Amino acid sequence: MSKKKLLSLLAVCALTFSLTACGGSKETGTGTTAGNSKQTTTDTSKDTAKAEKPKVGVTIYKFDDNFMSFVRRAIETTAKDKAELILNDSQNSQATQNEQVDMMISKGAKVLAINLVDPQAAPSIISKAQAAKLPVVFFNKEPSAEAMKSYDKTWYVGTTSAESGIIQGKIVADSWKANAKFDKNKDGKIQYVLLKGEPGHPDAEARTKYVIDEVVKQGIQVEQLELQTGMWDTVKGKDLMDAWLAKHGDKIEYVIANNDAMALGAVQSLKAAGYFANDKFMPVVGVDAIPDALEQIKSGMMVGTVLNDAKNQGKATVDLSINAALGKDILDGTQWKLDENKAVRVPYVAVTKDNISVGEEAYK
Ligand code: BGC
Ligand code: CA
Repeated sequence: MSKKKLLSLLAVCALTFSLTACGGSKETGTGTTAGNSKQTTTDTSKDTAKAEKPKVGVTIYKFDDNFMSFVRRAIETTAKDKAELILNDSQNSQATQNEQVDMMISKGAKVLAINLVDPQAAPSIISKAQAAKLPVVFFNKEPSAEAMKSYDKTWYVGTTSAESGIIQGKIVADSWKANAKFDKNKDGKIQYVLLKGEPGHPDAEARTKYVIDEVVKQGIQVEQLELQTGMWDTVKGKDLMDAWLAKHGDKIEYVIANNDAMALGAVQSLKAAGYFANDKFMPVVGVDAIPDALEQIKSGMMVGTVLNDAKNQGKATVDLSINAALGKDILDGTQWKLDENKAVRVPYVAVTKDNISVGEEAYK
């Protein structure tokens, strides 16, 4: 950290008079690792070019999220040469994120790009942005329509959550119809277990509802054996699957996961229980199409997934943020479109063995 930056940081600390804002916050200065810093600033510009490179204050709800690590990479790649990023790991704490937002504002961010920890916390971030007269681009966790309307300089980059559930439901239905042996007890119904993402997360809620709605719509009866949250997490997915296998064993006929990270945990558990060998099989589906899941699909341990396009969501987030920071039309020079909620929605795509390259391309 340069002396100047250190001094200004200390000045901010002194001003706010708060040790938590400075010591406890997971944010510090340029490029260096200071203590347990979780924040980096990427700036390769010469001072003269700075006017062209707006400061973009970014928070990720937690770096330790499989999918978000790919969105983060896309943000960094897109911002290279175009913006100076202040990048924060909110470590799954809304209080930490709120402090980080204050810190980014005091450091001169021209726009906030926020991946909320708590999807309900949008209003408090919006009021901070509004007070500082800054635009804010939310991404990945969609704020309520009401919050989106409350401030004209608010946008969202994400997906149409329901679409991922519908596409996943189609994958489940198609595979079920094509494989009579999936119906182990021959009762014509799918006995399924469902690994849910974070409760209250729009993607988790929509996927959980629409995947089943779609299967039923396709004329297939279902019976839910278990539904619990694995919080988007591989280890939690594995632990739940361990418990469910112990309880239900082969009565389980399908594992539906709201994301690939949890699906991968389920696959680990199933492998340890002797599945995917000697004719013992369990169909597993996820969402995201992260590289590890694509490998499992290729080797037959997952039936399919739904591409959640991390690359384009990261790109759109930066594209919109830069335009907002420079006071340009929000879509200026971009390929994106806004819907009536001021949202850019990147489409989902079904991915199975047949079109695995679609997933591979998006995560290159
Ligand atoms: C992804 C999950 C991720 C979550 C984070 C979802 O869109 O599918 O994998 O954990 O976003 O908010
Ligand atoms: Ca059955």
